Amino acid sequence: KVRVRFGPSPTGMLHLGGLRTALYNYVFAKANNGTFIIRIEDTDQTRCIEGMSQKLENDLKWAGLIPDESPKIGGDYGPYLQSQRFDLYQNEIKKLLDNHSAYHCFCSSKRLELLRKDAARRGEQPRYDNKCRNLTSTEVRERHERGDPFVVRLKMESSNESFEDLIKGPISHNVADIEGDPVLLKTDKFPTYHFANVVDDHHMKITHVLRGDEWLTSTPKHVMLYKAFGWEIPKFAHLPLILNRNGTKLSKRQNDIQVEYLRQSGYFPEAVINYVTKVGGGFKSENLTGLNISDLISLFDVKLIKSNSGRLDPRFLEESNKKQLVKKLKDDRQTLVAKAKKLMEETFPVKCKSFLLSENDYVRILEWGISEGRVTNLCELVGPKFNILWSVPTSDQLKEFSKVIDSEKVLHDCKERLKELNVFEQNVVLEVLRCHMKEENLSPKHYMSFIRMSLCGLKKAAPVAEILMVLGKNESINRLQSAFQ
Ligand code: GLU
Repeated sequence: KVRVRFGPSPTGMLHLGGLRTALYNYVFAKANNGTFIIRIEDTDQTRCIEGMSQKLENDLKWAGLIPDESPKIGGDYGPYLQSQRFDLYQNEIKKLLDNHSAYHCFCSSKRLELLRKDAARRGEQPRYDNKCRNLTSTEVRERHERGDPFVVRLKMESSNESFEDLIKGPISHNVADIEGDPVLLKTDKFPTYHFANVVDDHHMKITHVLRGDEWLTSTPKHVMLYKAFGWEIPKFAHLPLILNRNGTKLSKRQNDIQVEYLRQSGYFPEAVINYVTKVGGGFKSENLTGLNISDLISLFDVKLIKSNSGRLDPRFLEESNKKQLVKKLKDDRQTLVAKAKKLMEETFPVKCKSFLLSENDYVRILEWGISEGRVTNLCELVGPKFNILWSVPTSDQLKEFSKVIDSEKVLHDCKERLKELNVFEQNVVLEVLRCHMKEENLSPKHYMSFIRMSLCGLKKAAPVAEILMVLGKNESINRLQSAFQ
């Protein structure tokens, strides 16, 4: 039975790279009737951020990636936080020491530093020279008795430890020659990522490891570890790197790749998911816009994941979000309106009381905004485009026009003409306004500015016909009426 895991380190917020790894693990599990696990890799306590593991799980939940086993949910293979599994690592390291696959290394940090400097001088990558491999058991005992600090290292065979990656094909990386024997347990007795990761994958019965490209060269170490234990080796699939649109690497400081930021910016989870599926392939269809997770599960095929890196395209996020907006307006109008209403009321608690928007108003505004390309994201409703909802003119502002316009008459006639309309649509009202303007022999500069000012008290705002669409027939007529009272 397929069991996969997403193993984030709680050292930062979930970003699109992590979300993509989690998503692929999730759809792979679900496409194979398997289990999706969240395991928090928090062995490097100095880099962990308090509360981050819950945050990561919440962000994943928002995106619709609900685990079958996790720190929050629990499960048969817990605990799911590595910091709570230290006894297991201590027991497992003993096995490797006993079967001589691993050894104690007492090299001081000073010696290691010299090795590094030496390598740098030769322009080479630093390599541990495996010195402590050759200590006799008496030497080891003596040094333990003296209380010398030590690490535990894995004996890497000097052969190409190769493996077959499900995406990239055969991979080999000669860790032994390039890096020397890797550390499994640090001086503070904490496991390294490599050791904890392999021990946990084994004990949690992980069958497939789908993770970012950056771990590709670590995998031979992991394979070696499985062999040293005599454990079955899971299958590996390394996901292609995600780059920015201009080809640069994603950076943790970039806001627009943080899931939390995208959520707060009003993007729908489905759109954010869609955004990342566009990068690495893996689905039996090219057009994934508007699909939800269950669609993605049925279309997923690990063999279709691309092996080369891909670039994010923010335009695609906008497009996907718009598709979702249209879909929700059609299929789940009430929830969407409730969401829009909540957003408005939270942003403008006082203004919302002056102009009560009904459910129909929301639907009208959204439908109009989507069709005119004015709204691709609910958050735009509380942006400057929709200030017209809340602002009304002062009498001084209107007085300025009385020099050039017979204000009262023009407003009255305009209001009456609009009142008569059965179909209150943008092109229709525009025609009415134009006719009226011609009859009054006024220039757009005077006429349109005056009507705009009467409706919303703003000199600069959207075209008048658009303002009328946003306000709706009743509110527009009310405003024209109260402008000359
Ligand atoms: N803790 C690692 C990370 O943050 C997990 C890598 C793996 O999945 O093996 O990416």
